[in-house]
Order: sequence, then C-alpha cells, then structure tokens
Amino acid sequence: MKMHDQIEEAEVSILHTYNRFPVVFERGEGAYLYDTEGKKYLDFAAGIAVNALGYHYPGYDEALKAQIDKLMHTSNLYYNLPIIDAGNKLIMASRMSKVFFTNSGTEAVEGAIKAAKKYAYVKTGHADHEIIAMRNSFHGRSIGALSVTGTEHYREPFEPLMGGVRFADFNDLESVQEQVTEKTCAIIVETVQGEGGIHPATKDFLEGLRRLCDEKDIILIFDEIQCGMGRTGYYFAWQEFGVQPDIMTCAKALGCGVPVGAFVLNRKAASASLEPGDHGTTYGGNPFVCAAVSKVFEIFERDMIIPHVQELAPYLEERLDALAEKHSCVVERRGAGFMQGLELQGKPVSDVVKKALENGLLVISAGSNVLRLVPPLIISLAQVDEMIDILDVCLR
Ligand SMILES: *Cc1c(COP(=O)(O)O)cnc(C)c1O
Repeated sequence: MKMHDQIEEAEVSILHTYNRFPVVFERGEGAYLYDTEGKKYLDFAAGIAVNALGYHYPGYDEALKAQIDKLMHTSNLYYNLPIIDAGNKLIMASRMSKVFFTNSGTEAVEGAIKAAKKYAYVKTGHADHEIIAMRNSFHGRSIGALSVTGTEHYREPFEPLMGGVRFADFNDLESVQEQVTEKTCAIIVETVQGEGGIHPATKDFLEGLRRLCDEKDIILIFDEIQCGMGRTGYYFAWQEFGVQPDIMTCAKALGCGVPVGAFVLNRKAASASLEPGDHGTTYGGNPFVCAAVSKVFEIFERDMIIPHVQELAPYLEERLDALAEKHSCVVERRGAGFMQGLELQGKPVSDVVKKALENGLLVISAGSNVLRLVPPLIISLAQVDEMIDILDVCLR
C-alpha cells in the first residue's frame, strides 16, 4: 500500500482532531525518522519534545523489553520495583520531596491543581480557592488543565470551565500581583512557554513569583512538561535560576516515548496536601513506564546528555541567529538550550513546516507565527548544520 492510501485508510477510523501532515512514519534511528516509502527525515520535532534520546538509544529498548518479560502492570494497590527506582531518580534530579506518577502531562497538571487546592483546604478549613495562570500558556486539554490554559480558541467551545481561575501576563510580576486575592491558592507558570511560542521566563519574574508566593503562602507550580528533562541544559529549567517551585509537573521526555508524567512536590506541599483517598490512577507509574523513566535517568547520567546540550546549544543558537540575520522573514530567535523558536513575519509558519517536511526535515510550529525546534538532545553538530542547510532553503 502506498503512503497516500494508508493516510486515506487512517481517516476512515481516526477522529479528525488533528490536521496531520501527509506522512506515515514507520521507524526511527538516532535523530532520523523513515516513512513507509523509505524517505529519511532529520527530526527536530522529537515527537513534540518527547524523544530526547532519539530512536533506539543504546540500552533503552533492552530495558523496556526486559521489563515486559518481568511485569507490565499490577496497579497502585501494591508496590513494585521500577516505581521505587524511578521515584528516587526523579527526586535526585529535582531535589524535591515526593512524586506522583501520571499517564500524561495533562494529568500531571490536574494532580498539581488538586494538590494546591488541598493544601489551601487543609490550611484554611474551607474550599473555594483561586488559581492564577498566565495568558498565552498551555497546560493540557482536560477540563482542569484547560481551565488554566490561557489560549482562547482552545477554551471557548468548552466553557464554562473550572471556576476560580484568573489570568495574568507572563513575565509581568505586577500583573500577577493584581490578580492575587484572599482566595489565591496557586500560581501556575511554564518555566519556558512552549505552545505559546517559545517564551522563556525571566529570572526576575520567577524570583518575584517565589517571593510573592512565600509572602502569601501560595503554592508555586512550574510546568516543566516541555522544557524539563534536560532540554534547556538543566534537568529542569528553573534550576538555572535557583528558583524552586512548590510543585513541578513533568511528562514528555520523562519516559522518552512511553506515556508517563509526574507531579513532584516539595516537602511543604507534600506534607500538607494529598492523602490516601484524595487522588489516584490505574496505570500511573506502572512497572513498564517506570522502567523507562529509570533507564532514561540512568542514560542521562552515564552518557552526560545534559552537558552535551550545554556544550552544543551555543552553536545551535549562533547558527539560528545567523539564519535570522539572513532571512528578513525571521524577526526574532528565542529560547533556551534545545528549545528554540524563530518568530516569522510575512511568511506563514505552516508553509515553512510543510516545505521542511518535503525537504526531509521535521520542525513544528508554536503559537501562530513561531517555528519551533525541539530536537532530540542527542543531535550532533553535523546534524545542526544539516538542519540549518534545509531551513535556509525553506525560508527563501
Ligand atoms: C504538552 C504539554 C502539556 C500536556 O501534556 P500531555 O502529555 O499532552 O497531556 C502540558 N503542559 C505543557 C507545558 C506541555 O508542553
């Protein structure tokens, strides 16, 4: 069957909630993907910042296969060995206190919201608290996560959403302060806004949020789902600034391809929020996904994945800056580490993404006019050059 026919067949049964690109992928190797007709693509999308180790990273597949042979799932009614190991490693990397594993990023955000609400409930003895979220943010598609997502077109058809959410401007502390009331229990912010167009938080903003939250005993939630797991050159983007959240959400690259997320709490948030009966999940943190998480951390440490990002990121930025200089349709480069965006003007980003696909390069968009580059963290200098050469053609 030709790729065209495969696509037609997919549209028979799969609900059309995505305008998918006309390509069917069959396999991957390193930082490359291959479609069902054998065409090769350099992957600067990484399954939307998931495949941090690319495809078939040495040792990863073997660890998952070994776990399949032992035990896939039991339920959270019992302990298992992989969750102990994965939990310890996530705590080591974050220097936080407790972990709850979920099946996705959205569910990690749901859990973080519930933990913050419960913290305020325990403290005040009553419910009905408020959350401050940012405009232009993205936290997921479930009703709770959508309620703190500051993008109107995602929200509108599903109103009314969860009440008690106020929006402020990202990187504008004053606008956050204006939204604080007696009822505020949490502030949620992406350390680097991803879907909204690759906007890194400033150090001043994060420090200001931390001070504000300390003053008022508000839970500070950092959404590290996209920018975490080494992408910015730190395990978690906030570690660059030394500003610690009370709760952090992660997912995407946490398992490098298996569906897993987590919300991680500091001692304060963990000791006075969710208790037995408050929260649960059937699959969350099952032995299979936790074997993946555990192996990911092991590989990150053993093969110095994060130092590699730190070493290569300046080169990536330098080459992107030169590209931006050369093409007048690129008005700005923004980002941190291997999470980069090129803001375009006068050229639809979808045209560039399509052209790149035709030329064997996978990139994605963010917001309405930003070209997003979130490659596997294992890319080489030569692959940066290869990407630049293709983009150079596509931006012309
Ligand atoms: C992707 C993403 C989510 C949602 O994660 P899912 O795994 O798709 O549910 C939430 N927050 C941020 C910042 C994300 O990038």
